[in-house]
Parts: sequence; C-alpha cells; structure tokens
Amino acid sequence: LSKRTETFTDSVIRRMTRVSMKYNAVNLSQGFPDFDPPKEILARLAQVSNEDFHQYSITWGAQNFREALAVKQSRLMGRNIDPNGEIVVTCGSTEAMMVAMMTVANPGDKVIVFSPFYENYGADTILCGAEPIYVPLYPPEFNFNPDELEAAFKQKPKALILCNPSNPCGKVFTYNELKIIADFAEKYDAFVITDEVYEHIIYEPFKHVYFASLPRMWERTISCSSLSKTYSITGWRLGYIIAPPEIIDVAKKVHDFLTVGAAAPLQEAAVTGLKFGDEYYEKLRGVYTAKKNLFMKGLDDLGIIHTNPQGAYYVLLDISEFGFESDLEFCEVLAEKVGIGAVPGSSFFRENVNHLVRLHFAKKEDTLNEALNRLADFR
Ligand code: GLN
Repeated sequence: LSKRTETFTDSVIRRMTRVSMKYNAVNLSQGFPDFDPPKEILARLAQVSNEDFHQYSITWGAQNFREALAVKQSRLMGRNIDPNGEIVVTCGSTEAMMVAMMTVANPGDKVIVFSPFYENYGADTILCGAEPIYVPLYPPEFNFNPDELEAAFKQKPKALILCNPSNPCGKVFTYNELKIIADFAEKYDAFVITDEVYEHIIYEPFKHVYFASLPRMWERTISCSSLSKTYSITGWRLGYIIAPPEIIDVAKKVHDFLTVGAAAPLQEAAVTGLKFGDEYYEKLRGVYTAKKNLFMKGLDDLGIIHTNPQGAYYVLLDISEFGFESDLEFCEVLAEKVGIGAVPGSSFFRENVNHLVRLHFAKKEDTLNEALNRLADFR
C-alpha cells in the first residue's frame, strides 16, 4: 500500500462521531447542526426530484448555482466575480481545499499551516506531496508572532493556508493581522488558500474580512468555502473555490478528474439559499450568538476554563484539572461514561498539547443543556 498514506491516520473528528454513535452520546465532536436547514431550501429540494436534475451538471458547477453564488459573494467580497471564469463548485470545501493545493503545489513544495489547525490540512498537504511548515498561534487570543511567520515565509513556501474564522480556536483574524500575512505573501511570492466556511458565523464585535478583498490579494488568493455551515446542509457536500481565471482554469481540470462534479439536484435546491437576502445571514448570526452565550455561560457556571470564540462554533476546554493521562483518555471516558462526544485537542496541534478538548455548539438549546447537565454530573 502507498507510503504516503502511512503518514496520517483517519480523521479523529469523524472517528469521534462514530464513537459517539456507539455510546449514544450527545455528539459535540464533528461540527454539524442537529436542526433543520431553512424550510425554503427543503421545499425546493422536495420539488427537485420531479424535475430534470438527475444527470451530471456542468463539471465546474450548474450555471444558475454559479450565477447565484457570484451575486452573493460579489456583494460580500466587494468585487465583481465572474460566474463563468472565477468559480468552481466542489464536493464540499474538503474537495475545494484539496483541489486548491493540487492546483498550486508540486511534490516537495512547502505550505504554511497555522497551529492549531483543522486536521484535513495536514493530510491534504501529504496527499499532494507537499510539506507543511507549522507556525504557532498563541493563546488566549491565538495571535501569531510576525517574526516566526516571516521565518516560515523565508523557506519559500508555495502557499499559506488561512482558516478564518478559525476551527478549532475560534479566532477571527483582524484586518491588521491579515495585512501582515498579505505583505509577506507578496514579498515572498506565495499563494494564500483560505478556508472561510464559517464566514457567516461571527460574534459581535468581530467582523469577517475576506482575504481576497485586501489590496493586491485577489491575484494570489484561492478562496475556499462551502454551503454546509451557512445553510445547515453539511451532508449535501456543496463547496466552491473562487479565484482569478488563470488559477480557476487549472482548478477546473483538477476538480474534473477528482470528482466530475457536485450533486446536480442538491445544487439546484441550494440555489434557493444562495438567493436569500442579508436578513438571513443576520438571523443566522443571532441564532449562533444565542447558542454561544448559552454554552459559554454553562461552562462558566461549571467553572471550566475554556476559549472564548470570536467566530465559528467550537470551544476548547482545558481539562488539566480532571486528572486524566491524556486528552484521548478523557474523550473516551466522556463518550462512554458521561455520554458526550468530544474531539481530543491534540489532533489540532502540531505542538505537544494534551490538556485540551474541542466541543462544538451547533446544536439545539435542548441538546446543549443536556450536554451541560451531563458535564455537571461528571464534575
Ligand atoms: N469542520 C467540521 C469539524 O471540524 C467537520 C467537517 C468534516 O468532517 N468534513 O468538526
């Protein structure tokens, strides 16, 4: 079997979902909602089965999907995005990120990854033969040290991966931080591959700034995102890449041979969501702010030390005081004895960290309260 697959394991995040199912635990590991997508999208999905959407869509995405996406993202990113030349629709942002890396990196190339990081990035770099250079983000704000970042850029990486808002640490990069990254990307001539799937899940007073919208960054940014989190449809596997035409031309080829295309009926139903007005996204922020507040207060009441997310829907708990050997052992006991699924923090860090676990709060209030009650019993 291939050597490259020996250097990474399956995803611990997704493994913890299987563990949660085994113990019938409240699954706060893999981040996905337990509430329904918007009813307008579901109503359109119900109609679509009787219409003619059962064969392949155009390989880089159905025309009406790309057009609706271009209108929405042009409004948000502050530039006129061409639905024909500047978008590829993918099977989730998971494929988008893989395509982006394969589009820019040759075997042996280096890629900068901030640590903590979403675990796919490690495997993605290995799968395309590249080598990650990890740059630490320091708690509590998860700031980077510009000197350390520049030292990484001096190793001539092909690209930097930017997860903003960040999974798992909940950091929302400020304009100034993005500007520092942009200046290095320009100085050392590197691409920036973004993962902005939590672009609409932001807590006041933080604001999401699209990296591609910084001066001169459009040319070197490959913006990846998805509909999963924004419309609560993680199982539909709809993601996309937005980038300049020269990059998209290559990304189209990679995507074509990897997956041919995203599911046609689901693209058709999702167009309904892409056409929602700004009030939808405001409401979504309100819904997630309420969940975050409820869950953070619950953790505070239990006296558990945790991160304070600025965006996304994850919280890292400090489990030092529980006295376990490792975060893995803690998560096993938490799933089996307490009935809560969590992800060991070590799967997100390059550094040797085993006192953190990640929980997500994209769940109904009842589910979150149940999880808090179970944690209280454990205490
Ligand atoms: N982003 C989600 C998480 O970190 C899961 C995404 C996935 O499993 N594809 O939990």
